[in-house]
Amino acid sequence: MNIIANDPNRKSWIKVEKNCDFPIQNIPFGVFITNEDIVTIGTRIGKTVIDLGALQQLGYFKGIKLSDDVFLQDTLNDFIAHGRKRWREVRNRIAEIFDINNIELQNNVNHKSEVLFDLSEVEMLLPVDIGDFTDFYSNLNHAKNAGKIFFGSENHLPENWKHFPVCYHGRSSSVIVSGMHVKRPKGQIKDKNGNIEYKTTKQLDFELEMGFITTDGCHLGEAISINETEELIFGMVLLNDWSARDIQKFESVPLGPYLAKNFATAISPWIVTLDALEPFRTIDPEQNPEPLPYLQKSGKNAFDIQLSATIKTDNNIETEITKTNFKFQYWTMNQQLVHHTSNGCNLRSGDLFGSGTISGEKPESYASMLELAWNETKPITLNNGTQRTYIQDNDTVIIKGFCQNENSRIGFGLVENKVLS
Ligand code: CA
Repeated sequence: MNIIANDPNRKSWIKVEKNCDFPIQNIPFGVFITNEDIVTIGTRIGKTVIDLGALQQLGYFKGIKLSDDVFLQDTLNDFIAHGRKRWREVRNRIAEIFDINNIELQNNVNHKSEVLFDLSEVEMLLPVDIGDFTDFYSNLNHAKNAGKIFFGSENHLPENWKHFPVCYHGRSSSVIVSGMHVKRPKGQIKDKNGNIEYKTTKQLDFELEMGFITTDGCHLGEAISINETEELIFGMVLLNDWSARDIQKFESVPLGPYLAKNFATAISPWIVTLDALEPFRTIDPEQNPEPLPYLQKSGKNAFDIQLSATIKTDNNIETEITKTNFKFQYWTMNQQLVHHTSNGCNLRSGDLFGSGTISGEKPESYASMLELAWNETKPITLNNGTQRTYIQDNDTVIIKGFCQNENSRIGFGLVENKVLS
């Protein structure tokens, strides 16, 4: 099926400002609550939020095989379980409905009043009920930096690292949506003298990541092939894997992070479909040694997504502290997903997979405070004159991401959380 929704020449009758992340070519999916406390599934063009439940009830999705209440829910899990063919049909139909040359809804004042909301009138909610959350460690720059910082060795990379995408299973119950506050956690921390105390973390950090959300379609005991992986990826979000480094340091050996990570993981509210990202594919990272055959896939499987992180201090002064790109990943999403199923582990609709910290090669593109301030040895000066080696109380961390070529810009908006004591 053609993805006509991606037509870069299409214009919408809904106003879209220049450099907006959400032109008519994006058509992401999210869940929102209205002023009248109605929760529904929606999409967004410019600063207008569109109620897909209302659109369906008014008959605008006629001819597409969808369950009657698929958009009248408080999560996207059901819609995601409908599969890629339906996602494409729905995006294509939305593109047609909001095309500047289509007057059907454009000229129907009553329908418009039921379907359209200004962004300021709604609150975005967590878009999926996340069954499982897995976080990878798939960026070579980050893995090397962490090795240097934690083990003091130039070439500390675990033996398995270049053979498969290394990861751990995270916690889904504490995945939160952008806008929610993060409470500074406590944990067991070992100081320089070897004293162990239960106390508040002093090394609260962000990790600039992206996440992808899957549908079901891989049953327990079955392994899929790498060429089937994209059938199962619904879309992507920005992800901040909040981390407490001092807790992490003491607890992580031998089984990996636990309380250092599971107090909060934040995602952006709009899921941008893999289909919408199609024009922004780029060449795969070079992999040496060549991975085993089940991890090999031809074609362009990486994506050019420009990313940044900003710290906003209490007086609303913002400082952009890093700029990086999703294409700096060593392992692709296809490889991560096929590796997950390679032992017969299943997938469910709404599972979340984190990319791991997406650091670039250069210091100004590192994607955590651990690396940017190099383990507290190189403090960062903010635009308000204060310095940071980690995130302080009342700081807000904002992660943004977008793709841009000569034809269009497809963005993710942002994920932001303020830290409370
Ligand atoms: Ca992480």
